[in-house]
Amino acid sequence: MESCPIPDSQWERALELIGRADEVALACHVTPDGDALGSMLAVAFTLRRMGKRVVASFGDRHFVVPRLLRFLPGQDMLVAPEDYPAEPELMIVFDASTFERLGLLCSNAATAREVIVVDHHPSNGGFGTLGLIDAKAAATAMLAEQLVYRLGGRLDRDIATCLYAGLVTDTGSFRHSSVTPAVHQMAARLVATGLRTDEIARELWDRSPFGYLKVLAAALDRVTLEDGLVSTYVTRVDRAAYGLPYAELEGIIDIVRRTDEAEVAVVLKEDDQGDWQVSTRSKGRVDVGSVCAALGGGGHHNAAGYTSHDSVEETMAKFRRELRKVC
Ligand code: AMP
Ligand code: MN
Ligand code: MN
Repeated sequence: MESCPIPDSQWERALELIGRADEVALACHVTPDGDALGSMLAVAFTLRRMGKRVVASFGDRHFVVPRLLRFLPGQDMLVAPEDYPAEPELMIVFDASTFERLGLLCSNAATAREVIVVDHHPSNGGFGTLGLIDAKAAATAMLAEQLVYRLGGRLDRDIATCLYAGLVTDTGSFRHSSVTPAVHQMAARLVATGLRTDEIARELWDRSPFGYLKVLAAALDRVTLEDGLVSTYVTRVDRAAYGLPYAELEGIIDIVRRTDEAEVAVVLKEDDQGDWQVSTRSKGRVDVGSVCAALGGGGHHNAAGYTSHDSVEETMAKFRRELRKVC
């Protein structure tokens, strides 16, 4: 295993805080992806087996697990934000680069006695009372796996499924530049528990409602390419016509970003509140993480996002302005 940049003393402090808590409240970022939910549930399983009371949640106003993550085991440990402890003695948060990414659970984190932050975003400014943060880790799931071992837990198929969902999503199926030998070594440990990687891949990427194709068609119909920037948008109205939930839009950026002539790709997705969730991707030359951070969001060098309350035109104009500053 590669050396871990998180000092042993910090892991030990985390074990101490967990050891003395009767109940541990886990959280991950809003509209969770495989890494956020998978990392959280893997640690939830481990804590439950240690005899801890465990609650786990994410702070979405409309609390539903995205359809493509419903195959993950351990969802009986999830509670809605309104049933979450108001003042947890110990909270552990996963894959959230800022306090705000906790959504409705921000106030619970603010009143929690201790908050351990497990994350891999370079833009993580170190909120909470203890950080287990490695900006080089390809996924939070890599840190979650370490936490499982350090807690004395062992991989079983449930925990491995959760961790694998995190690893495979955040590495783009082992395609991104973040992939190291340690990533494949971890994958080997997970697969050795008997995972059906084909079934997991199908759940994550190869099942969509028919309406997805129609909404994708609308998005592709309006795609534009200008100065190496390819972009499009999807409205609430597009989705409403097919009853398509917001979470189903996650894969559109992966189609748009393959445009050979573009260095940067952007997809604006209107959520149920009418705000634009902006997904951005870079091929490496441009740090979209810093562009998005300047616009109030965050993320990684090649994959980042933020929320915009402006119109599509104004959002794109502001994005271009920030992009020019780093090009
Ligand atoms: P997405 O385009 O939603 O897949 O997000 C890509 C990356 O950007 C993820 O690593 C997220 O953590 C980050 N990100 C997306 N939206 C936001 C936001 N509103 N604030 C901070 N980071 C974000
Ligand atoms: Mn995430
Ligand atoms: Mn992640």
